[in-house]
Amino acid sequence: MKLPIGMFLMVWQLALVSAQTRDWCNNQPRSAYSKLERVRIADPWFEVYKIRPGVLAIYEPHQFEEVISYLVIGSQKALLFDTGMGISNIKAVVEDLTQLPVSVVNSHTHNDHVGDNWRFTDVYGMPTDFTRRNAKGSTADAQAELAPGQICGPLPTGFDVKSYRTKAFDISHWLHDGDKINLGDRTLEVISTPGHTPDSIALLDERNGLLFTGDTFYPGPIYLYRPETDLDAYVSSVQRLAELAPRLQLLLPAHNVPVADPSYLPRVLDAIQQVRHGRAKSVSRDGRRGYKFEGFSFLTS
Ligand SMILES: [Zn+2]
Repeated sequence: MKLPIGMFLMVWQLALVSAQTRDWCNNQPRSAYSKLERVRIADPWFEVYKIRPGVLAIYEPHQFEEVISYLVIGSQKALLFDTGMGISNIKAVVEDLTQLPVSVVNSHTHNDHVGDNWRFTDVYGMPTDFTRRNAKGSTADAQAELAPGQICGPLPTGFDVKSYRTKAFDISHWLHDGDKINLGDRTLEVISTPGHTPDSIALLDERNGLLFTGDTFYPGPIYLYRPETDLDAYVSSVQRLAELAPRLQLLLPAHNVPVADPSYLPRVLDAIQQVRHGRAKSVSRDGRRGYKFEGFSFLTS
């Protein structure tokens, strides 16, 4: 059989995509999770893991982003760092885990981190135009998360594929670099880390040596190719986080696995500097440039 070359390429690409995603789906859950303490909840869309006392990772393993939101429970109130995809109901999960009032803070406002913001009344945001625009909601990025191969296992009962979008949400407080959020017996400091997006932040729990890194670092391909990404700002932000590394015990990233060693940070800094100075080798991947390092990689435009 002879296929026209365009058709052949299309079939070949589709086969490649489905093979990649099949591998991803077959390898779920990632091995790192077997060492973590699982907390049983009713909703099968999420998996919850206890990372430290009062720190729970709320993981969405059935979607390719493998996004992780965090519930940090203090003595007076709780903070939800991101609300995930908005495919199932993270608020119901949170209400099962704590009776305390919950404030939502976002690592940044990409669709996969703000999906359930609309369900909450106390939402903090960074005062950027990017944030204000994303708070109006959007459809395209959300729909792309449901493309062939992006879902592993069943979607939640009653989920409507056609109407899925990132719903608009209200921001009740504006955050700034250095702000401290007091949860009672625990304080989280906001560290502005623009780069991946203009509104990216990390949260530092200094006393417990924890750093919630958002999408500035996670052990996987770090996306640095979108128009809202600023690579120079990213380098400065990673530098800032890397300076904290000696005081840290644990990194809690927003994708893939909820635990990583702080020694990653100086290595990420070294790696991104190599990329910026043209000293790193890249491979072309779907029209983007991929730079592979040990335990993580960068995808740039
Ligand atoms: Zn992102």
